[in-house]
Amino acid sequence: MPYLRNRIGKQNIARVLLVLFLFALVPVAGVKADQKEDLEETIRNSQNAISEAEKQKKELQSGLTDVKKLVSELEATKKDLKQYVVKLDSNLDAIEQKIEELKQTIAGKEEEIEETGKTLDEAIEVADSQYASMKTRVKFMYEQGQTFYLDLLFGAKNFGELLNRTEFIEKIAAYDRKKLEEYQETRDKIAAFKEELEAEKMVLDAAKAGVEEEEAALNTLISEKQREITNYQSDINNKEAIIKEYENEIAEQNQIISALEAAVKEAKKKLAGTAIKYDGGKFKWPAPEYTRISDDYGSRIHPILKTQQFHNGVDMAAPSGSPILAAYDGEVVAADYSGSMGNYIMIDHGDDLYTIYMHASKLYVSKGQTVSRGEKIAAVGSTGRSTGPHLHFSVRQSGSYVSPWNYLSQ
Ligand SMILES: [Zn+2]
Repeated sequence: MPYLRNRIGKQNIARVLLVLFLFALVPVAGVKADQKEDLEETIRNSQNAISEAEKQKKELQSGLTDVKKLVSELEATKKDLKQYVVKLDSNLDAIEQKIEELKQTIAGKEEEIEETGKTLDEAIEVADSQYASMKTRVKFMYEQGQTFYLDLLFGAKNFGELLNRTEFIEKIAAYDRKKLEEYQETRDKIAAFKEELEAEKMVLDAAKAGVEEEEAALNTLISEKQREITNYQSDINNKEAIIKEYENEIAEQNQIISALEAAVKEAKKKLAGTAIKYDGGKFKWPAPEYTRISDDYGSRIHPILKTQQFHNGVDMAAPSGSPILAAYDGEVVAADYSGSMGNYIMIDHGDDLYTIYMHASKLYVSKGQTVSRGEKIAAVGSTGRSTGPHLHFSVRQSGSYVSPWNYLSQ
């Protein structure tokens, strides 16, 4: 777009200077009335073209500003998201640290449980050996002839029953009984402690599972946010690519059109006096089978960018293959193809006035041919950068696009 702005500016400055120069050369008194009128009209046309170009320039600039704003808004959202992800990452770090601490605590607890288990086994062994030595003593007593006690001892189903048999207890040495009780007590205490440790470990395991769940949720959230960032980035890239494409398209069109205008100007210089004159008549509607104006001339919201852009012609939606008519008498200066305009025709109507017809499916005229108002020159199509069959109709006056509505009669 800067290319377009520069071009419009330079052309118009050159044009004004040329007009002023011509004016200065001709002494006012010596100018005939009709010559003076011509000259005044040329000046008026130039001034109109300049103000039109200024308007275009402003509109293009505001469109560009909007696109830049949009991109910077997207960038800001992306930055916010990135900051959010950094915060999430630090939360994740804290959680991972918590998990690590819990793992260590659990490992400590397991070690303690294992040691307690060993102690318990030892205590059980001590109690068992005490019981064994008691039995040895009782057996000794039996060998001394006390059959009754032996029967009692071997008839007992378990140690508890044995203890309850008071007759037998009386026979056991007080020392033995005390020791046995002590050992038993120790064994029970250790078993209780081990149980307590296992309960504690269960609580820790549950805490660890909870924190791990939190960690998984946070990881999901982070990857979601990162996906969002990627989406924002590709959105930004797409928008920038579209802007670039749009700018290239406009630049390409302008390059072709102004080269054609320059070529016509050059040719006219050589054939001085025989040039076509525009008599100021109204244009014929160029797409008689059109159904609607699908996109008007001037500033509009770009369908993809959703920002203000300048549209240099009137889009007339019409069935593919329906006729395109020459809007006015003139000479065909281009019947060609371009990537953005598709099959297009440009007609010179004289006095720096041109009409351009884009996206045709077929062209019926060729360069150099003279055409008259209402003559069939092409068929509607959707070639070039087009989203459906339509005629894009542009009018150029003194090197700038002007509103076709200034010339059209319906
Ligand atoms: Zn268009």
